[in-house]
Amino acid sequence: TRTINLKNRPKGIPELTDFEFTTADVPALQEGEVLLSSKYFSVDPYLRGRMSDAESYIKPFELNKPIISGTIAEVLASKNSKFSIGDYVSGMLAWKETQVVKPDELLKVDPNKAPLSAYLGVLGMTGLTAYLGLTEIGKPKKGETLLVSGAAGAVGSVVGQIGKILGLRVVGIAGTDEKLEMLKSKFGFDEAINYNTTENMNEAIANSCPEGVDIYFDNVGGEISEAVLFNINKFSRTVNCGAISVYNNTTLPKSISVQPFLIKKSSSMQGFVISNYVDKHSAGIKQLAEWLQQGKLHYIETIVDGFDELPNAFIDLFQGKNKGKMIVKV
Ligand code: NDP
Repeated sequence: TRTINLKNRPKGIPELTDFEFTTADVPALQEGEVLLSSKYFSVDPYLRGRMSDAESYIKPFELNKPIISGTIAEVLASKNSKFSIGDYVSGMLAWKETQVVKPDELLKVDPNKAPLSAYLGVLGMTGLTAYLGLTEIGKPKKGETLLVSGAAGAVGSVVGQIGKILGLRVVGIAGTDEKLEMLKSKFGFDEAINYNTTENMNEAIANSCPEGVDIYFDNVGGEISEAVLFNINKFSRTVNCGAISVYNNTTLPKSISVQPFLIKKSSSMQGFVISNYVDKHSAGIKQLAEWLQQGKLHYIETIVDGFDELPNAFIDLFQGKNKGKMIVKV
């Protein structure tokens, strides 16, 4: 079976040569273990952080060891009474075509309740991030204006829709006109801004948010988020969820000082990490599933075919090649 290891710690944008494919036999199954065949892998911007050895909220990957990400797999053989052949499971698994694991941290997923890939997105980590980030830190109140960056991605597209469900005015920022069209027609955003074709983001945000920004759900950081500061309202909240625009930086960027903006507007910013809210995960998934079933929530996936494509699909996140959740199907 094949494995994808981290070969080098990327410098700047990750390259294919930072990954290495290896082949080895699958070990024999021991008591308590299951043999899994990978079906869908999640590729996520946060994996870039784990490829670096800088301190973070999660341990770095080891060199010459497999990359690990959210995965859906099928049980091919089992020496564990809780799992049977043909079960589907989700968990943090290695980038391997097949693997033997102790299934302590695997969850069974039901392909009859939702398509398997959905458990990596809207009914998984990115859906929960959207829901808990917005509700716990954004603290939305009906009628407020919500601005979302990275709006056409897995997290952002769900944040905007939940904003609409909760009665907010929702404006999205994304990288192509096609994505802006999708935000408005498919996901119900009130307005959208293309950061690649807009010269003055500060002005564009002011035009799209005439009453100012009450909640900024930030997936990208950097210059886009600096422009937002000029438009925040008194007592506004920023959810610092991600900063993809700076993940590949090799030098410290020059940035404006945020403090005067926050002071002037009694505004707050708070970092969000999904693993801090484990006690709220199951209630969150229940709510997301209910909205899906009621047709209030929609989702989109970019599904790339083939185990060989995992490194490419990951790198493509940094070029905005995905709409909604980026997933690799094996
Ligand atoms: P996305 O599906 O949003 O994919 C990444 C998107 O980022 C791309 O499609 C691209 O869209 C945009 N992007 C890439 N480069 C830049 C850039 N330089 N400037 C602005 N936008 C850029 O990924 P996710 O939804 O999985 O994650 C979104 C963010 O949330 C990430 O920053 C991630 O790290 C963070 N996150 C944080 C979690 C937490 O617990 N804190 C959990 C999950 C995610 P476009 O075409 O619009 O540029």
